[in-house]
Amino acid sequence: MHELGIVMHVIKSVENVARENQLTEVSGVTLEIGEVSGVVHHYLTDCWQWAVKKTEVLQNAELRIESLPAVTHCDNCQADYPTVPNGKICPCCGSDKTWLLTGTEMNIKEIEVPLPDEQDAG
Ligand SMILES: [Zn+2]
Repeated sequence: MHELGIVMHVIKSVENVARENQLTEVSGVTLEIGEVSGVVHHYLTDCWQWAVKKTEVLQNAELRIESLPAVTHCDNCQADYPTVPNGKICPCCGSDKTWLLTGTEMNIKEIEVPLPDEQDAG
């Protein structure tokens, strides 16, 4: 399952960051996922909810997903255009000498930690 592999990868990365920063709990993770990466967001969330239960630092971590727009570049007229509505044919010149510039990436954008307990400034 593609989505589960991604979730496992993200959890490992976050666990490493948590260890390096001596975090005991992570409350949320924001992922940026390219529009044409083929990742189904709700499968990803399902896998996430199952997988984080097996971890210590991520037990209560919420997964947020942000979509990154896909952009295609045309070698014929040098235009960059949105991939999803147009596909492989350049809307500016009709050429098919195009290639995907962005849209398949998967980045961990943000890791949230719970707010520290209010300190008695007393
Ligand atoms: Zn073009």
